[in-house]
Amino acid sequence: MVSQEDIERLRELLARPAQNIVIVSHTNPDGDAVGSSLAWREALLEMGHRVTCIVPNKYPYFLDWMTGIENLVLFKTDEAGVARRAVEESDLIFFLDFNAVSRLEGLSEVIESNTTARRILIDHHLSPGPGFDLMFSCTGSSSTSFLIYRILEKMLGTQAITRSMAESLYVGMMTDTGNFSFSFLTPELYRAVAVLVETGIDIPTIHNNVYNAFTEGRARLFGYAINRKMEVIHNGTVAYMSLLESEMRRFQFQPGDSEGFVNYPLTIKSMKLSAIFVATHKFIRVSLRSRGGVDVDLFARKYFNGGGHRNAAGGKSFYDDAGNHRAFQTIRSRVCRPGRFGLGRYGRFPLAGFITAAKTLNFTKCAEQLTFRSPL
Ligand code: 5GP
Ligand code: MN
Repeated sequence: MVSQEDIERLRELLARPAQNIVIVSHTNPDGDAVGSSLAWREALLEMGHRVTCIVPNKYPYFLDWMTGIENLVLFKTDEAGVARRAVEESDLIFFLDFNAVSRLEGLSEVIESNTTARRILIDHHLSPGPGFDLMFSCTGSSSTSFLIYRILEKMLGTQAITRSMAESLYVGMMTDTGNFSFSFLTPELYRAVAVLVETGIDIPTIHNNVYNAFTEGRARLFGYAINRKMEVIHNGTVAYMSLLESEMRRFQFQPGDSEGFVNYPLTIKSMKLSAIFVATHKFIRVSLRSRGGVDVDLFARKYFNGGGHRNAAGGKSFYDDAGNHRAFQTIRSRVCRPGRFGLGRYGRFPLAGFITAAKTLNFTKCAEQLTFRSPL
């Protein structure tokens, strides 16, 4: 998984003292992105380097409590230009928990402008992009945090893992494995967890901080999404739901609130594929989950400018990329009746009108694929 040869190359890259190092992770950073970044940051600081951790935008509020999280520079709101300067001055850039620089959106231009820094990828997603000087790309790892653990173990020994590093790594491992319930739950992972527990981390508290810290609005939005918005098709094997901006506003939506919604339809025994479409100003965010051999990474790459893992992937659909603005206008006036449940101008998506309604929101690709050519 992590070869000794790559560890030696990493050791060489880190050998020169007091380097300027940037760690970047993906847009909409999750527990694994934040956890792996914070732990790696602490390790690099300990080695005597200067480290700046950058994420494109805000992490979900249920990670606010994490030790050191105030050190993450949010590129989107970084008016002082801290991120830009750090990238310009950097000798090394670590890319954690994502596989393509394009996922950094606006930040990718800043990164590309530094042509001399060495680039190191540490990630567990499928199909890593080109342009890295060193890659720890392990699709068989359940999280990037577990990869960071393996690197630390091989490079410095487990005694170098402090309690706060362990806490960050545990958050990443826990969230990316759905609290240790998804794939790649290897004996090595549990051995790693045992080492983290030995540092004194408090697992019930971590669990509570991450999973039981939502707002009342989020709880109600969840109920609403499942009760009112979930559509089940293909003999109970495919489910999808959507959230419009107006609906999110109604439940005082905060970034992170829809996290996990897409998993819920998979609690239905017959379910094979679940999708959620979350509208934003500029595009529709798509999250896909599946069971068994249904490959949503392929699906996301093919239709939604995205990717991920076989059973968990995401992407986006641009309102204008189907080029059907005119269709949008016509269809909207035809199918968008006032909501039966008072759900705003698009109404509820009845199954029969789904394709049309999907076009209305430019869910065209996803609608057609999900309904007629799902990868089942
Ligand atoms: P989520 O649905 O929780 O946002 O993401 C599920 C998985 O797919 C995560 O591993 C995430 O990193 C990946 N993913 C989500 N959105 C995108 C995207 O736009 N592009 C790529 N390449 N991966 C994504
Ligand atoms: Mn991850």
